Amino acid sequence: MDPVTGLEQVQQAVAEGCRQAGRDPRSVTLVAASKTVPPQVLENALAAGHRVFGENQVQEAKSKWPALLDRHPRTELHLIGPLQSNKVRDAVALFDVIHSVDRPSLCAALTRECAQQERKPRLLVQVNTGRESQKGGILPEDADGFLGACHDMYGLDIEGLMCIPPFDGPKEPHFALVARIAARNGLRTLSMGMSGDFPLAIEMGATHVRVGTAIFGSRAAAVKAAR
Ligand SMILES: *Cc1c(COP(=O)(O)O)cnc(C)c1O
Repeated sequence: MDPVTGLEQVQQAVAEGCRQAGRDPRSVTLVAASKTVPPQVLENALAAGHRVFGENQVQEAKSKWPALLDRHPRTELHLIGPLQSNKVRDAVALFDVIHSVDRPSLCAALTRECAQQERKPRLLVQVNTGRESQKGGILPEDADGFLGACHDMYGLDIEGLMCIPPFDGPKEPHFALVARIAARNGLRTLSMGMSGDFPLAIEMGATHVRVGTAIFGSRAAAVKAAR
């Protein structure tokens, strides 16, 4: 898909979702999930004016984004994939928002690097609402305690929560669960909703939707087109 057409369609769908939910369209940020999307395609999306992108891997982002950011300095870069402790230095240097805080050792590394680099990326805690062993995230019943520790033990300001519901099955219970955990912890940011379910996520309070395929087409096709 032409990323500019895809972007326009998804932006319209986000606006329509907000309208139907009775929400201000400015309360939802569209994070264009751009893993595997080659730089020249990203350049088109940037030229069309889009400024918020999400990457899954620190390494890939590090190879694609510095040159693009030089040309488009006001771009906001989100890390939406898992973060290994040995990538924290690069992640703090490159990303404006990290969606995948999920364990004490990572908090410790983030605290250290943020002080070292005098940078303060916005931070979200990932909740593993589906209790899937292959996914990152804190278990729902551990979330309150972990959020407390982020603040009290590590001095980290956590802005909100993120979830990636299981691929199969209804998404409502997952979105509702993270919304409840956020509400009782006084958190305002909810990163939830992808290509298949972002209108529902908006209805359920998402402030950030992470959309890839509906903007850029299937990832295999994007990679092939770049060859
Ligand atoms: C790839 C990805 C998305 C976007 O998924 P699509 O189904 O392509 O919209 C959202 N969140 C995360 C964490 C992702 O890795």
